[in-house]
Amino acid sequence: MKGFTTKAIHGYRPKADPHGAMRVPLYDTVSFEHPSSKDLERAFQGRRPAHAYSRISNPTIEDFEQRMRLLSDGLAVLALSSGMAAISNLVMTLCETGTNVVTSRHMFGNTVSLFEHSLGPWGLEVRYVDMTDLAAVEAAIDENTRLVFLEVITNPQMEVADLQAISALTHKKGVPLGVDCTVTTPYLFNSKKGGVDIEVLSSTKYISGGGTCVGGVLIDNGTFDWKQSPKLAKKAKQMGPMAFIATLRMEVYRNLGACMAPHNAYLQSLGLESMALRIDRSCENALALARLLEEHPAVESVNYPGLESSPYHEIAKQQFGEKYGGVISFNLASKDACFDVMDQVKLMKRATNINDNKSMVIHPASTIFVEYSPEQRAEMQVTDQLIRLSVGIEDIEDLKDDLTQALEFTK
Ligand code: PLP
Repeated sequence: MKGFTTKAIHGYRPKADPHGAMRVPLYDTVSFEHPSSKDLERAFQGRRPAHAYSRISNPTIEDFEQRMRLLSDGLAVLALSSGMAAISNLVMTLCETGTNVVTSRHMFGNTVSLFEHSLGPWGLEVRYVDMTDLAAVEAAIDENTRLVFLEVITNPQMEVADLQAISALTHKKGVPLGVDCTVTTPYLFNSKKGGVDIEVLSSTKYISGGGTCVGGVLIDNGTFDWKQSPKLAKKAKQMGPMAFIATLRMEVYRNLGACMAPHNAYLQSLGLESMALRIDRSCENALALARLLEEHPAVESVNYPGLESSPYHEIAKQQFGEKYGGVISFNLASKDACFDVMDQVKLMKRATNINDNKSMVIHPASTIFVEYSPEQRAEMQVTDQLIRLSVGIEDIEDLKDDLTQALEFTK
């Protein structure tokens, strides 16, 4: 079985269902009964593979996790309540007070806020660097660095760093590389081959597809020796490569309580089956709209790695092949011009989400990045003139018509 979609549909075979159901049912239950006290004890000790309580594991969630594992070729997968839960659980598993994370200011606004406003006050030092400058990344890593973390295509700057080069560096330094691959998913980018140790996904986006539910995923690619990670070294001696996911499952994830809801896992398993088709269409649509925007006189600049004019085109082509994701950002003359265009779209939605079936537009500076000062936004390259367009799977001629008529209002 080679094809992504064939694997997504037929690849993972769960336990036989007593009724022959072709989908793992929605196990909407909190706890699971055990045959004896001894069995219950052994389940808690991790010596008997059995579900005990749905904040820790659940059969419907396990089905989703196993499907993700198969599609990503990772070692182990954990599903969480949201993309933000995945990122915060990752950081809290590897870092502690007095240690540091090397990351970038060019990222989803809530992720910067997590580092800056939520984890910083607990004593985590956050070192922001330009991820496209290898020397800067190298200079920022020291003996207290516990994680290097970035986005595969940054949202909304659309910057692409050379992950193989960063990975060679982090591995030389004995630090794990975590990458938020929400906008690529294992379909566009095999993060294991790409040098990433931990892949992070907001499964809210392409995986759920229709914008049905929020979820997150952590994939351990099995490429990092956890004995090198001070917080996990002891566990790694006992558990080997499973130390990261086991620490989450039996401690961090369990204690923070950010588990995926079984209903969401059910919907997201369904989403996985048609994900490749939807991604193909959204990438194709995005490239066509990026080209339209690039030619339009009202548009000052377009950020999309699929355009030959993008400074990240070559590296993106190398890393992702001929598909560059469904998100574009572009600059108009002013904030007023952005609002005018956004108020005129008829098909596209004024809403915050990406990689939905529906196309949507947002003005990041006044929404997702509103908590930052103008100076901070400038550092993040989130200008007042910037619109983010997440391109859905509608028919391209309808999208072109909608965007073209809306851009008329900037004249
Ligand atoms: N990572 C990226 C790149 C995102 O765009 C988002 C949300 O938009 C997140 C993480 C957070 O995901 P969630 O909304 O599922 O918490």
